[in-house]
Amino acid sequence: MSPDVLLGVSDRHLTTWTDHRFGQGVPWRLHRDMVSDWQAMLEAASADGISILPISTYRDFSRQALIFNEKAEGRRSVHDDHGQRLQREAFSDDEWLHRILRFSALPGLSRHHWGTDLDVFDANAVHQGHRPKLEPDEFSGDGPCVALNEWLQENAGRFGFFRPYRLDLGGVAPEPWHLSYAPISRHAANDIPVEQLAALLTDTYVAFCSIILPQLPALVERYAQRISPP
Ligand SMILES: [Zn+2]
Repeated sequence: MSPDVLLGVSDRHLTTWTDHRFGQGVPWRLHRDMVSDWQAMLEAASADGISILPISTYRDFSRQALIFNEKAEGRRSVHDDHGQRLQREAFSDDEWLHRILRFSALPGLSRHHWGTDLDVFDANAVHQGHRPKLEPDEFSGDGPCVALNEWLQENAGRFGFFRPYRLDLGGVAPEPWHLSYAPISRHAANDIPVEQLAALLTDTYVAFCSIILPQLPALVERYAQRISPP
């Protein structure tokens, strides 16, 4: 992957994949080299009675910066590990930064920049009226995505997909809905161009930039490179 693709400032690696399964076609942007395996996985799941619905695919640097800045500035809610909304005043800037990064990537460090990563949900649950919140409870116990979760655990690897946020390694919180295409993405986090990222953060308006830059290599390790491998 080129530095521009890694940092979310290029879309040359993408293609539009249109989901024709449910009425009107819905277009999604995916890495062009994973579409055939993605399609094959959907068909295999469907044969087993599992309907995989994409919720979010490619997201560029600007979009991630918007989300990050809204959280940094208290215009979008930030939660703890138990889903409780946190009060901005109770935290220092550095503590708030880490609270955000547990659930939302720093612009330039989102795996969604790569086009190889996407969030999924159980389509049947959605069609029955369940609004996806993307919370771990939905994928365990008697949640609506338990069958999907088990199917992915058994089968996603056959099509090259894995779940980088399967376990809590002290960086990004567990995200059982987040899939990644290993043939392209498995080593990509090791190639993140840290100096180019620092320049990009400096040139763009990104909140907390002055406290981010001095600890950028540590943030890259903790929130981008620390993943559950395929
Ligand atoms: Zn995701």
